[in-house]
Amino acid sequence: MAKFPCPACGAERSTFEADCTSCPWKKHGGISVKDYKSTLINQDESLDDLIKSQKTLIYSVIFGVVAQFIIPLLFLSIPYSIYAIIKITGALKITGITTIILILLMFIPIVNIICILILNGKATAKLEKAGIRVGMFGA
Ligand SMILES: [Zn+2]
Repeated sequence: MAKFPCPACGAERSTFEADCTSCPWKKHGGISVKDYKSTLINQDESLDDLIKSQKTLIYSVIFGVVAQFIIPLLFLSIPYSIYAIIKITGALKITGITTIILILLMFIPIVNIICILILNGKATAKLEKAGIRVGMFGA
């Protein structure tokens, strides 16, 4: 982990006060994290879809965990995780049989979490490659 990551792209900075050398973000007076992100999204609209889909995926995990303790919620959390899978596979351009297998795996405890973590990792890698920093709750 970078010691002083750029809040926009995550690149290493020399000090907490330093401007980023990898993207247009500046500590004082430069482009904001939000503007930087929207610039990238304007260049590539699929990033917006990916950011939103990844958030849905993360929420579905949180919801799934909560549902373990409030059993009636499972009837909502499973369809929600299926919805999240359809969204993220679409954004990652995963199609057909793989998506169907992933949907079926959502019904298997533990395996579903592993699948989600793998998909989340793929989304993170793609966003970071595009220059967007991804935190615990997405970009
Ligand atoms: Zn940066």
